[in-house]
Amino acid sequence: MLRPVASTKLMARLHFQSARRAAHIVPNRIGGELVPSKSSKLSDVRDPATQLLVCRVPESSDAEMAAAVRAAAEAFPAWRNTAVQARQRVMFKLQVLIRDNMEELARSITQEQGKTLADARGDVFRGLEVVEAAAGAAPLMMGETLEQLSGGLDTYSFRQPLGVCAGICPFNFPAMIPLWMFPMACVAGNTFVLKPSEKDPGASMMLAEMADQAGLPKGVLNIVHGAKDTVNFLCDAPEIRAISFVGSNVAGEHIHARATANGKRVQANLGAKNHVVIMPDADREAALNAVVGAAFGAAGQRCMALSVAVFVGEAKELLGDIVAKAKTLKVTGGFEEGADVGPMITKGAKERAERLIQEGVNYGAELVLDGRGVKPKGFEQGNFLGPTVLAGVTPANPAYTNEIFGPVLCCTCVNTLDQAIALINGNPYGNGTAIFTQSGAVARKFQYEIDVGQVGINVPVPVPLPMFSFTGSRRSFVGGQHFYGKQGIAFFTQTKTVTSSWQYKPLAGTSQMTTSFP
Ligand code: NAD
Repeated sequence: MLRPVASTKLMARLHFQSARRAAHIVPNRIGGELVPSKSSKLSDVRDPATQLLVCRVPESSDAEMAAAVRAAAEAFPAWRNTAVQARQRVMFKLQVLIRDNMEELARSITQEQGKTLADARGDVFRGLEVVEAAAGAAPLMMGETLEQLSGGLDTYSFRQPLGVCAGICPFNFPAMIPLWMFPMACVAGNTFVLKPSEKDPGASMMLAEMADQAGLPKGVLNIVHGAKDTVNFLCDAPEIRAISFVGSNVAGEHIHARATANGKRVQANLGAKNHVVIMPDADREAALNAVVGAAFGAAGQRCMALSVAVFVGEAKELLGDIVAKAKTLKVTGGFEEGADVGPMITKGAKERAERLIQEGVNYGAELVLDGRGVKPKGFEQGNFLGPTVLAGVTPANPAYTNEIFGPVLCCTCVNTLDQAIALINGNPYGNGTAIFTQSGAVARKFQYEIDVGQVGINVPVPVPLPMFSFTGSRRSFVGGQHFYGKQGIAFFTQTKTVTSSWQYKPLAGTSQMTTSFP
């Protein structure tokens, strides 16, 4: 039964406070209960702005993971039998609870992940929109019918849930990405085992608590913590029918290979290198704001961040303005007033980005803005990298061939739109791209010829809303159906097609109606 919203708020606040206790070891969630892990293998979650210990995450044992999978398997028959309208109502209540606890969720994200509070609210909001879509997803579960394929013979299909599904999440959207996964899976009648990123599990724990309060029966959503071994366990567990993954290519390609070899469905959103094309006729102000926001916002740790600017012809004059605007961004802790760019997730991630900047320079790029060495006052220990701009980046430059996943913009100049399209189509990734132009004909040519799954026209981060699907392509996606929308429900259901023949004969004991006309 749904408890009053006020107590949910209180619960979230208590969780947030307890997460700040240094010794707090995040429990698993199995069969509706918080179950402390017995594992002695723990990893620290540190506030990326201060290095203060926030909590510790266990690497769950095989027995703990097996218990989570078993709980999901046991919960499946009753959940599958629950009326689809009742499953939708749980999602409807869940979206109310998320909305009511938006601020607590956002604060937990800023503390564990580092992004600014404004970005953290966006993280929650984009996930909330998927829950809203899940609350009305029944029409997407409808099958097809065709009657009279022969005398008395009809064919119709149902979309039925798969059983136990699993989700493996990255660190960069701790609320949105779990919400891409379990609401669509569960509304379709599946049960779920979620593995949050070991770098920021707090939002997943809060969302699971809210799902419980929204009426999701015990065992329908379980959480296990861990890293590579946990992931391998999920890939191998025979009860798990499908795996949703979002993260790097290294992990995702491994998961896809291992899980599909075990007969599972996989949808895996992977890495990216997103280009923005700026045409000479672009609205200067709009392009400038869009590029700076999409390149450096969330410290560049978005899979849809714009990390390569392609200036066509005279558009190259915008480079100076981009550098000038990037210099005005406030780099500081995510809770600070007016923060634009927060810290990177770990020291290791920051050092990797700094190394790739240096390799880019060594390869011949010009460092027109260097964000290395930034130490915001009061956050001297944080993993900060300020906005960085490399110009004259060639396709073989390591700063271009690697996904840096930090606030680093690589710039290059070409003479024609065709050259810009060829450059982008020659890059292995196909997550997102954008063009800034005032010409409909240029935009139409770009949208038609570009081989990238998500295209923005005067829109810098073209993430489709949940009535569509998230459609990254080429090396940015591997697997079957995409996340959320029609494809999301198709991924989490299997089609059963019934062919039935009913030849009508009057039942014995009934008389054939005859109509006689005078
Ligand atoms: P990551 O691949 O390091 O981790 C993701 C998950 O996989 C984590 O839960 C982690 O525990 C697990 N994992 C990590 N290494 C593994 C391995 N070798 N074997 C098995 N499991 C492993 O990714 P991250 O650093 O958390 O996230 C950043 C990456 O995610 C970037 O590449 C970014 O582009 C990508 N991303 C893509 C999208 C998208 O929609 N295309 C969205 C967000 C993030």
